[in-house]
Amino acid sequence: MKQELIDLIKTGDDCVKCGKCIPVCTIHAISPDETTSPRGFLDLLAAHKRGDLPLDKDVKRIFESCFLCTNCVDVCPSKIPTDTAIEEVRAEIAQEFGITWYKRAFFWLLRHRTVMDVMAKLGYVFKTCAFADKKEQNSMLPRFYLPIVKSGRLLPSVSKTSFLNSHEEHIVTKNPKQKVAVFIGCMANYSYTNIGDSLVRILEKLGVDILIPKKQLCCGAPAYFTGDLDTVRYLIKKNVEYFEGFIDSVDAIVVPEATCSSMMVHDWEKALKDEPEWLERCEKIISKVSLATKWLNDNTKLKELLAKDGKQMGHSVTYHDPCHARKTQGVWREPRALLSKSYSLIEMENPNRCCGFGGVTIQTERFELAQMAGAPKAKMIEESGADIVSAECSACRMQLTNAMHQNGVKTLFKNPIELIDEALKQ
Ligand code: SF4
Ligand code: SF4
Repeated sequence: MKQELIDLIKTGDDCVKCGKCIPVCTIHAISPDETTSPRGFLDLLAAHKRGDLPLDKDVKRIFESCFLCTNCVDVCPSKIPTDTAIEEVRAEIAQEFGITWYKRAFFWLLRHRTVMDVMAKLGYVFKTCAFADKKEQNSMLPRFYLPIVKSGRLLPSVSKTSFLNSHEEHIVTKNPKQKVAVFIGCMANYSYTNIGDSLVRILEKLGVDILIPKKQLCCGAPAYFTGDLDTVRYLIKKNVEYFEGFIDSVDAIVVPEATCSSMMVHDWEKALKDEPEWLERCEKIISKVSLATKWLNDNTKLKELLAKDGKQMGHSVTYHDPCHARKTQGVWREPRALLSKSYSLIEMENPNRCCGFGGVTIQTERFELAQMAGAPKAKMIEESGADIVSAECSACRMQLTNAMHQNGVKTLFKNPIELIDEALKQ
């Protein structure tokens, strides 16, 4: 029996067409057409569900233009989950049209960590042939036109050794006050490895025992937003089974990545909603999942440590709010509270505006949309005058680093965990 995430007809009927979502919608801002707006999507989804609108290539293209930023859900007076409705139809699109070969290959790799490790190693060895290294941005630039990638586009670099292969499984602290497990996320594991290294150094300074579970798999977000629910359920169940082995021994699972922690906290339950036994097992795990800055701010003496031992860094920072941090997890004060101890914070015009990452499909098949959504954000960052832009999300980092590169903006991007670690270094 097909497992549905949401009742599309009811969701469509619940929309009162008030239009409050229109000014904040990421796709509507770059394609001002009622069809590609939250209430337009909802109408089309309900019509499709009633059997009045076949899922042809044009309709598929419309549903694939949503960035899943959740801005609409945030402002909707009826709290209509347009994002979940789009996720539901994406699963149907995946079934009807299949999933493109390179996405299938990528999702297969997400299921097989050891093979992914080998591929990342090969990527590191051969990257200089096809890419120029841009060390400062932790990125690489294709030397020539590559299909899917396209030329002139800055991509996350590949690290020599992944985060999970760089550390002991258990980093023991003398007389630990707390113990946490680190869930790192794929981009910070293979590309932006300094995020995890920084988190480990901060936790050590705070006297926290650290578990780095080596067999953790992807949270499932790339597959979820593409509609590959088989891969999503496989990854969740593997992770849940594995985490059950240590969950009672840790105070929290800390995640320095907004998309991964949001996926675990919100979307794991949606994906398993028709499997009550798994749902119960999953709930126990996610009750301990926290975005890293939130856990550090609320449960440790990091602010006091920064005030006592942290350097005043002399750099200004502007903070971008990842959609998966502020809107879905309510986390936005915490990174600012920690960063303000060592950096001068400057707010950009609209830190809450979506960066335009949009997921695997937008980054590959609809990249022009990501470019259009990223350009105003890059300009906003430049106009803030800050030296550094920060966000606790590597998807935002990938998108904004490229948007700044393509729009001639020189501001550097760093995760708040890296910035806090720099302030604490002797
Ligand atoms: S999730 Fe974002 S892009 Fe999609 S309809 Fe809502 S506001 Fe628009
Ligand atoms: S804000 Fe909510 S109720 Fe109003 S038009 Fe948008 S989706 Fe419909």
